[in-house]
Amino acid sequence: MSLADALAQERRARLAAERLLELKQKELLAANAQLSRHALTLTDEIVEKREEVEEVRHVAEELRDQKERVLQDLEQAHEEVDIVQRRLWHSVETIQDGFAVFDRNDTLLVANPAYLAVFDEMECVAPGISYRDIIQILVEEGIVDTGDLDPQAWCADMLERWKSPQPKARTIKLWNNRFIKLMDRRSATGDTVSLALDITDTIRREKDLEEALLRAESANRAKSAFLAKMSHELRTPMNGVVGMADLLCETSLDEEQKLFVDTIRSSGDSLLKLINDVLDFSKMEAAKLVLHKEEFDLERTLTEVLMLFQPAVKEKAVDLVVDYDMFLPTTFVGDPGRFRQILTNLIGNAVKFTSSGHVMVRAVGLPDGDTDNYRIHVSVEDTGPGIPADMIDHIFGEFNQVEDEQNRKFEGTGLGLAITKQLVTLMGGKIWMDSEEGKGSNFGFYVPLPAPKTATFHLDNIPNWVDRIIMVSRPSQAARILTSQLQILGADVASRTPDDFIADPETKPGDVVVIDAERTMQTGSRVIRAIQASGAQVPVVLMQNLQDNDDSAGYQPLQMVNKPTGRKILINAIAAFDPPARAAEDAPAYPVPAPAEQDEAPVSDQGAVAVAPPAPRKMRVLAAEDNKTNRLVFSKLVRKLDVDLAFAENGVEAVEKWKEMRPDILFMDISMPIMDGKEATRRIREIEASEGAARTPIVALTAHALSGDDEDILAAGLDHYLTKPLKKDAIFEQIGKAVPQDATPPFAEAEAEPAQPGRLAAN
Ligand code: ADP
Repeated sequence: MSLADALAQERRARLAAERLLELKQKELLAANAQLSRHALTLTDEIVEKREEVEEVRHVAEELRDQKERVLQDLEQAHEEVDIVQRRLWHSVETIQDGFAVFDRNDTLLVANPAYLAVFDEMECVAPGISYRDIIQILVEEGIVDTGDLDPQAWCADMLERWKSPQPKARTIKLWNNRFIKLMDRRSATGDTVSLALDITDTIRREKDLEEALLRAESANRAKSAFLAKMSHELRTPMNGVVGMADLLCETSLDEEQKLFVDTIRSSGDSLLKLINDVLDFSKMEAAKLVLHKEEFDLERTLTEVLMLFQPAVKEKAVDLVVDYDMFLPTTFVGDPGRFRQILTNLIGNAVKFTSSGHVMVRAVGLPDGDTDNYRIHVSVEDTGPGIPADMIDHIFGEFNQVEDEQNRKFEGTGLGLAITKQLVTLMGGKIWMDSEEGKGSNFGFYVPLPAPKTATFHLDNIPNWVDRIIMVSRPSQAARILTSQLQILGADVASRTPDDFIADPETKPGDVVVIDAERTMQTGSRVIRAIQASGAQVPVVLMQNLQDNDDSAGYQPLQMVNKPTGRKILINAIAAFDPPARAAEDAPAYPVPAPAEQDEAPVSDQGAVAVAPPAPRKMRVLAAEDNKTNRLVFSKLVRKLDVDLAFAENGVEAVEKWKEMRPDILFMDISMPIMDGKEATRRIREIEASEGAARTPIVALTAHALSGDDEDILAAGLDHYLTKPLKKDAIFEQIGKAVPQDATPPFAEAEAEPAQPGRLAAN
């Protein structure tokens, strides 16, 4: 090889080496660059990691602090729990009542000293003992008094109770007469917490209270018995006083004597009312009052009660008004006596407190659903002083009155409304009152009352011949009500004041003149004189007060009716007139008395005069009464009757006299020595039954007003009963009912039949 070749070769080799070098340098550079990039990244990461480590160290330090704090807190909490636990346990140990906890297997976990005390430090009774063993120990050691129960039966019973999910409280008695009430509760964990409360004091208190209650009840019974006794004792002499005063009134007295006697009588009546109020109240207090239901005429009852107050308003400018719903039946089934009592109380108050205006009794009613019951609303409205709103509830309480200067001048016990409220409630109703002070009061009550199935209702008919009714009255509630009711019934009513009518008293056939006579009869007689002067003979109905003297100057045709006059009474009075055509012919004969039947001896078919019947005997009346005064009163009351009267002084004598004289009626006192009236009646009824004899009407005379008596009386075979003081009307009524056919009428000689209601009934 040539040099040149060699050189060329070497140059090529060099060039190649240089290129390689260059390449390697480039690669080295690239590797360097990459290395420095890596180094950079690494540095970053190192910085980052260092920061993280720093942070972790910081957190770790914080955690260490926290742990220390938590440990401190925990320690403190432990201390507090310890304190609370000690306190709690200390408290549990301190309480006088037993406390224990049993686990779900009925093993005692803890018990306080009170719980363990009854076991008298028996070592076996300690945590770990079972409930069953505790019960067994109670019995075996005689700690518990199992009473009538066999000890094992007692244990079985106690364990049975323990098993129930929520055992009922149970009181056990210990040997030392202490009473422990066991109360056990299951907790959510299944443990049972037991409390054993010493209730000895409570039981003793309960016993004391029971004894006190028994004592109070027996005192209350004694009070009732005392009242019953007092009623008899008080009413019997009062009967004498009032009865004799009654009789004295009928004798000729000068004005002063009459005043004295009236005072005795009215004081006696007030006293009897007071006794009855107190008795009624005590009866209701003892829930002894029972209602005696019978059919009665509600409208008549309202009117009659209102009429009783006519004398009380005689001296006052007070009108008594009755407004009975025209479309309401009048017969209902209820206790008329108690109904009267309610009305008497309400109307009595209204009359007592009202000095001018009116006292209006209004009754409305509607059928109560599909039953035979009616819902009857009665209101007693007056124009008296009224009652302050804040007193309205108060006055229905016992012995409560509106106590102010104004009212202290009125008598009263404050029992009337309390009794009334109880009576209304007893009847299933409700009472209330509205009042505007200074204007008046309105007492209202409703009661459900059944109408008897047989009762029929019809509206009153005004006789066909009546063309026009001329109502002569000053403007008044009563006149307004009557007028509107008559108009509803189709009458043509012309209202005239007395002065207007007197100025022009023209009437025509078919007219009826109705006159409100007002308090004095002057208005009535003035109007009648005007009619007389006009020469007319128009039928006149005079509405007058109960005790007014007839001042109608003998005018005919005339009907007098008592005020307050209800629609029915007025229409009946009108219907009693003959139609005008006959009236013209036979003017004075209003109403025409029915001709006496059979004036002559009867004639037989053959024309022979029949044998005269045996001469009639007198009616026989027997009265059994032990009290001399009462016998005297009775004999005076019936002295004008044409009867044979005999007395018996006790039950035995009553039976004997009854056998001898076979009376047509027997009045029987109930409380009598030797044999009482009930027993005597039983004997008589037995004899009657054995002989098949007719039943003698026997009427009880009783001073007792306590409930239950009347039932006993009727159960003993008596037919009826009257409460003392004796009332002539009531006795006459009973005698009238018993007159036998073969006796002379006992009333022939007696004074006019008692058509007017008597004094305010004592019961
Ligand atoms: P008494 O009338 O015997 O005092 P009551 O119980 O009947 O007892 O009445 C209680 C009180 O209610 C009466 O004292 C009176 O203050 C008041 N009172 C009752 N009714 C009326 C009335 N119609 N107007 C004004 N006050 C009345």
